[in-house]
Amino acid sequence: MDWRYLIALGSNQRHHRHGAPRQVLRAAIAALGGHRITVEAASPIVASTPLGPSRRRYANAAVLLRSSFDPDALLDRLKAIEHSFGRRTGGQPWRARVLDLDIVLWEFGCWSSPGLTIPHTAFRTRGFVVLPGVALAAHWRDPVTGLTLRQIAARLTRPRPLPKRGAW
Ligand code: ADP
Ligand code: MG
Repeated sequence: MDWRYLIALGSNQRHHRHGAPRQVLRAAIAALGGHRITVEAASPIVASTPLGPSRRRYANAAVLLRSSFDPDALLDRLKAIEHSFGRRTGGQPWRARVLDLDIVLWEFGCWSSPGLTIPHTAFRTRGFVVLPGVALAAHWRDPVTGLTLRQIAARLTRPRPLPKRGAW
């Protein structure tokens, strides 16, 4: 059984071997493909300003994956890749990070386990996640709001409240 996932990638720190954040993301996209994971498409890499106190600009991108891993197993794999790129756990949430890999959407809808919530809880307000996502899967529908990625992107550029549907 294979599932499709939309993954967000971010970097705002150089890697001693791969180089600048943009190159880190290129290397990370290459590292994602392999055992039980196929990278079907990758968005262009964009630059974004940081959300928190860190002043370094981010490089961001999104990829569409096909994988036989369930969401928890895929997150374990993503964390192993982050670790192999030198990211260490702990510290401030806004600190510079060499690589951040988040699961934004999963073909089957919603998932909730102790360390993982899909859709990613903050993605709808983050242009650096939504816009690369639109480049790959404009018609993919967020199961929580019922909006497509394109519609969520339109609300980011012309702010309107997200529709309320259920408890979120
Ligand atoms: P963020 O990505 O929000 O900036 P972190 O990368 O530090 O923050 O992630 C903190 C924790 O969030 C991870 O250890 C992971 O267990 C959890 N998490 C919950 N939902 C998700 C998701 N959809 N994708 C990735 N991590 C998630
Ligand atoms: Mg993360």
